[in-house]
Amino acid sequence: MFRVFLVFLFCIVSLSAASLKVENWGKGETFLTFLEKNKLPLSIYYNLEPEDQKITTDIMSGVKYQMLMSDDGQIEQVLIPIGEELQLHIIKEKDTYKLTNTPISYQENERVLTVEIKSSPYQDIIDKTNNYLLAHEFIQAFKNSVNFKRLRKGDRVVIFYKKRVRLGRQFGAPKIEAAMVEVRGHKNYVFSYNKGRFYDDKGKEVEGFFLAKPVNYRRISDGFTYKRWHPILKRYRAHLGIDYAARSGTPVRAAGNGKIIKIGRRGGYGKTITIKHDNGYKTLYAHMRAYRKGMKRGKWVKKGQVIGYVGSTGMSTGPHLHFGLYKNNRAINPNSVVKVTKSKLTGKKRKEFFAYTKKFKKDIEVALNSYEQPVKEKSFEYMVSLDQKQNNMQ
Ligand SMILES: [Zn+2]
Repeated sequence: MFRVFLVFLFCIVSLSAASLKVENWGKGETFLTFLEKNKLPLSIYYNLEPEDQKITTDIMSGVKYQMLMSDDGQIEQVLIPIGEELQLHIIKEKDTYKLTNTPISYQENERVLTVEIKSSPYQDIIDKTNNYLLAHEFIQAFKNSVNFKRLRKGDRVVIFYKKRVRLGRQFGAPKIEAAMVEVRGHKNYVFSYNKGRFYDDKGKEVEGFFLAKPVNYRRISDGFTYKRWHPILKRYRAHLGIDYAARSGTPVRAAGNGKIIKIGRRGGYGKTITIKHDNGYKTLYAHMRAYRKGMKRGKWVKKGQVIGYVGSTGMSTGPHLHFGLYKNNRAINPNSVVKVTKSKLTGKKRKEFFAYTKKFKKDIEVALNSYEQPVKEKSFEYMVSLDQKQNNMQ
């Protein structure tokens, strides 16, 4: 009897064979044009909470999304990743569709890499691992404290890093926890500490992208979160920026030197300006009341220069500046880089830091003598181009 039931079940499953489509989010595509194109009801968008409507503006062009189709061509489910933590999930329920935010699941693996310099650290890391994202992170971490031109053949590099793995592939950029590079035999270190900032072994901050506060604010009305379980709404919510509450008309300033690459209305974000900075960084200023005269696409602006004025355009409950920071087209927490000066560890924090780095220094010595076989990446999941020319945020 049970066997008959199994055969019966198998028939049902194979009859309703669904197919999976993987596609790239097009340039200039918005969530609404996506719904229209696929003949999905626009109410999916209009029924969302205002904050979630804004999140749909953060879908990046080029991102891979998946669609599950029934055999009669109906869309059953759609999964669209937003950043590295969250995805939009459209599910068909009877004759209607609903949308939820769900966390992206991945594993996190710790890795060690030891490399002996043959040509350059960047090239040698790639030759050993195929992991150009790791090579890029490594160069970023040391670029203000080490002159790579002085390296000699035989100098060595050790990197302790965490990488996310999803569906058997590296997912997103790896995170360096500690790294060492020899310059003519002299060891230089960086340690990720204090919310992902990089410090040398004397407790001095070394990474060099520092943003100014974009507005004189009264208070922070909402912080950055990729996924936070909302106990009352019983859903995940994301907020990919910082909301600075300020009086309407307060000047909004460029957080760093850069070029305006986008100016205009953007869905729930209202009037926005996007500025491109060095090293794959971009900043977004949203809900502005007005732009400063003369601001246009292609214009270079200086750190601290007024670009517009605080307002409440788009989906907004009161005057505030929504400030977003993107690195290589992924939203990151602006708090990790928004500061006026480099931070120096003092007192108890400094003591804790030295205890933390002592352990890593020992591990680095062990790694120098072991040369573990590096992991070679074959391909990446959700690859984002590091080519500056292609860094067009949608
Ligand atoms: Zn906001």
